[in-house]
Amino acid sequence: MTYNIITIGCQMNRADSERLSFYLEKLGFLLEPNFSKADLVVIVSCGVKQSAEDRVYGLAHRIMKGNKKAIIALTGCLSDREDVKSRLAGNAKIFFNISDLMNLDKSLKKYFPKIKKIFKQDFKNYLEISPNRFSSFSALVPIGNGCNNFCSYCVVPYARGREIYRPAKDIISEIEALVKVGYKEINLIAQNVNSYKSGKLDFPTLLKKIDKIPGNFWLRFSTSHPKDVSPGLIKVLKENKKICEHFHLAVQSGDDKILQAMNRKYKINDYINTVRSIRKSLDYKNGLPAAITTDIIVGFPGEGKSNFNNTKNLFRKVKFDLAYISKYSPRFGTASFELKDDINLEEKKRREAELNILLRKYALENNNKYLDKELDVLIEGVDKKGNLFGRTRTSKIVRIKKASGKRLKEKMLGRKKVCIENNCADRKLIGEFVKVKINQVKEFELEGELIKSRPQVLVILGPTASGKTALAVKLAHDFNGEIVSADSRQVYRGMDVGTGKDLAGYSYKGKDIPYHLIDVCSPKNVFSLAKYQKMAFSAIDNIISKGKLPILVGGSGLYLEAVIDNYILSAVKPIFGQRDEYENLSLEQLHSRIKKINPKFFKGLNNSERNNKRRLARFLEVLLSENDFSPKKGEPRYDFLIFGLSPDREVLRERIYKRLIKRLEEEDMIGEVERLKKSGVSYKRLESFGLEYRFIAYYLQKKITYQQLIDKLFIAICQFSKKQMSWFRRSQKQGMDIVWVEGVEEVKNSLESL
Ligand code: SAM
Ligand code: SF4
Repeated sequence: MTYNIITIGCQMNRADSERLSFYLEKLGFLLEPNFSKADLVVIVSCGVKQSAEDRVYGLAHRIMKGNKKAIIALTGCLSDREDVKSRLAGNAKIFFNISDLMNLDKSLKKYFPKIKKIFKQDFKNYLEISPNRFSSFSALVPIGNGCNNFCSYCVVPYARGREIYRPAKDIISEIEALVKVGYKEINLIAQNVNSYKSGKLDFPTLLKKIDKIPGNFWLRFSTSHPKDVSPGLIKVLKENKKICEHFHLAVQSGDDKILQAMNRKYKINDYINTVRSIRKSLDYKNGLPAAITTDIIVGFPGEGKSNFNNTKNLFRKVKFDLAYISKYSPRFGTASFELKDDINLEEKKRREAELNILLRKYALENNNKYLDKELDVLIEGVDKKGNLFGRTRTSKIVRIKKASGKRLKEKMLGRKKVCIENNCADRKLIGEFVKVKINQVKEFELEGELIKSRPQVLVILGPTASGKTALAVKLAHDFNGEIVSADSRQVYRGMDVGTGKDLAGYSYKGKDIPYHLIDVCSPKNVFSLAKYQKMAFSAIDNIISKGKLPILVGGSGLYLEAVIDNYILSAVKPIFGQRDEYENLSLEQLHSRIKKINPKFFKGLNNSERNNKRRLARFLEVLLSENDFSPKKGEPRYDFLIFGLSPDREVLRERIYKRLIKRLEEEDMIGEVERLKKSGVSYKRLESFGLEYRFIAYYLQKKITYQQLIDKLFIAICQFSKKQMSWFRRSQKQGMDIVWVEGVEEVKNSLESL
């Protein structure tokens, strides 16, 4: 069973289609992108104008012509109209009001007896059904449905019924979830957002609450009825940063007599004053004038020349950035349907063209203010010519012209092709914010070039003894790089042999490779994850500023993630030395403590981690040391190219053993621990570093023999390397894009092919 949805009309219809798609897939339908091959085709119709209605008749005919077995279902504005039903009787089989979506299965059963039974929740309204989102970065979030305004020309109150609104808590939790998974634009939609009510909570309060949701996203809303734009809303526009500087305010006509006949309930002076207040709040909030857009109907019954002139005057006064101009279309059942449609089509077209001339003039005048400005743009896609395009906060379309070959070369900053120009990585930027410098403007479009994108960082990760450092050093040599260590123990001075801190190894073919985040703290002091992150960011920024390639190298999963996922951490000092105490707790106690601090973190632990007391104690220590530590991801600061080394387990075991014996017998690892002890690092503190330091401390305290030291430490290092691999695999499952490689050639080839 396959389905296809054809959506006509407004954003609300698109949001309905997202819910419809989810519902149909729950019933067992699979999406068929070509409607002439689908078993079920649902048309989400628009009845606002006759032209939109006519599209439905044309479509139904075309579908049946190419796909005789298709079952056509109709929803949207036209689904309840008896005349439409009889006109489509030969073609469409099912008609349903979208507010009755929960019961669509009953009608479908007749034609698709194999549809799955779905557990029906007690939905108060269909908006509670989850959507299958059509975009992965810009979300439509309906806050309500229906309209109580009864503008005399409009079918919406008849088609969608009276206003209903979703509870604020549902809307907020939906948006929190969207932002967590990376949505960059939230569009609140309803026929009249300003009428929103959830108990005592009104629309401005809802906006304020949404604006407070942590994360980097833009907030938009539409549509607003001019009569309902309150001073409270205007105040909120100014004070809340995520609300974009674009206001769509449909005016319909510039003439008071026509507005009255349209039942719009405001006068044109009220409208102009409202626009002024909006501009006062939004203008230059983000460096540019606010954009005001509108809807207009030309040729409404009784619209004489002077009435139309008033609309032209309104265009001169307001200088809209965009206007959706419609020719009046009498709609059956509406109040104005009873009026004589006395302006002929030619005249309506002429008026439309006249307004378009004014619109173009003022839109260009407005856009001229964008020349040479650097703007944030949310990238939406790549056009047929391969240019990226997106939108500004003011909703202006921006096209980013491809950098020329020459300029591209200049921008490579001395690294071989590790660049993030739009030629190299254009699709990667879809759904991302970028900075663009505008160098050309048109009436309805701006053109510019990418001036800043996230710099690129190379990551080499892998378990202990996998050869990460040697690989990174070679790459740093070949790609003009510097190394940033992500090793939680190499940060400590004097802990060299035990951590494999081979500083002589940071040299290749006679060239020294600069390194960072090694030897930055005394082992007597504590070093927190937050401190690591701060220093790593500063090292990376510094490397980038020199035009070099930062290479983040290490095996400490938490440290790597703190940088890659830009963990939001509070800089609170860690509480060290309590791990022993935590290790004395039972598994259940450890579970419940971790769960209490961070349930999400606990959920992410795998079985072996949950059954390992030492590991849990370490987690608890880290969680507590970071106070409100929560691996909440921030907006990534860089683009990461992550390579992982994962040698065969047996090879690794052999390497670990040989390395251990060498360190003990030839490199005086025991002497190193003795020296640390002598310099004032307690056994307790040494044990807290784990592995080599823990077991040698046991040996020095005569708790174990030399042979036990070798045996136990070897097992512990092997287990540790297994755990490192589980951590990386888990990160990968949670979305970290790791390319597993065997050696330097593979990494080089990947970099060259970028
Ligand atoms: N609720 C929105 C508002 O009031 O701004 C408008 C929603 S309506 C579905 C979208 C637009 O369609 C209207 O703003 C109006 O310009 C246009 N429209 C509605 N009915 C129309 C009609 N009978 N003839 C021509 N245009 C119409
Ligand atoms: Fe239609 Fe007026 Fe309601 Fe907008 S406010 S949906 S134009 S009735």
